Amino acid sequence: MDAKELKEIHSKIIEVLRNKESFLITSHLRPDGDAIGSQLALASLLEEMGKSIIIVNVDPVPDPFRFLPESDRITNDFIPEDPPEVALVLDTSSLDRTGRVAGLVRKAKLVINIDHHISNEKFGDINLIEEDAGAVGEQIFSLIRSLDCPIGKKRAVSLYTAILTDTGAFQYDNTTEKTHRIARHLLREGVEPALITEKIYQNVSFSRQKLLGLALATLRRNPREGVGWIRLTREMYRKAEAKDSETDGFINYVRSIKGIRLALLFQETDKKNQVRVSFRSSREINVNDLAQQFGGGGHPRAAGCTVEGDIEEVENKVLAAARKIIVTS
Ligand code: 5GP
Ligand code: MN
Repeated sequence: MDAKELKEIHSKIIEVLRNKESFLITSHLRPDGDAIGSQLALASLLEEMGKSIIIVNVDPVPDPFRFLPESDRITNDFIPEDPPEVALVLDTSSLDRTGRVAGLVRKAKLVINIDHHISNEKFGDINLIEEDAGAVGEQIFSLIRSLDCPIGKKRAVSLYTAILTDTGAFQYDNTTEKTHRIARHLLREGVEPALITEKIYQNVSFSRQKLLGLALATLRRNPREGVGWIRLTREMYRKAEAKDSETDGFINYVRSIKGIRLALLFQETDKKNQVRVSFRSSREINVNDLAQQFGGGGHPRAAGCTVEGDIEEVENKVLAAARKIIVTS
């Protein structure tokens, strides 16, 4: 998107934010730091503008993000009496990724879709899709700046969390000069980076580490193709007394192995015969394409999908498709 186009879309969104009164802010299933941080920053802005807002996600705020200011305002039950005038959908490539909230979004008079996924389906009346943004947090930062509103410490903390988590703590190749420039601005607003990284990365639950141990014990690889994978079964969750939301980052242990170009995580969901697959890859393998073969999507180097079948079956199917992509990459 060129600068002129971006400016035009910003102006359209700003007009809506200024002129409409009631807003729903939602994001994807199993929300991550970018989803939560971006929602809270935008909500705080709209509230300051005197708007009526509700923040609704299907799934709860994961524990590591509960320290964020006003995170308890994000609700998981969503039965407002009147549908909102405007639905703001953040960090969500397709409307079905909002789960049951999609019904409420469809009832809104206007849908604004703000996202950075390459696979975004542009389902909004206004679509602000920037594939090169490291996080939606960057997009919200720029939007607040175009509105000429102050960022302030509270919003800075939320936005920093969004950017920190989606760039893998500034490690992935979605980290750009702009990412760092925005981070600098957020630090100037009073963000204390060490405090935030401590809250997010040094506050791991016992059950999560137990689960990680069980998952890593299943590590396998195909060294010739540079593929590595781990699995998580319901039995392991039970043994570790862990929750579904406690697996964030597991796949990075596979991705970081020397010689691995494609990392996969297979996890049984709480539905029988259903497996969530996460993909991470190095430069030359496009996992968005791979995930889309199974009805999912994401980014070129981080994607996911949900596949019906038992875990063994799903592993075989997905690994076979991965092999095909690797041969042609
Ligand atoms: P994760 O593996 O962390 O769950 O997801 C990695 C990336 O892929 C995220 O950016 C996420 O939004 C995207 N993603 C994960 N699962 C799905 C899915 O089922 N459908 C789509 N469209 N994107 C997904
Ligand atoms: Mn994101």
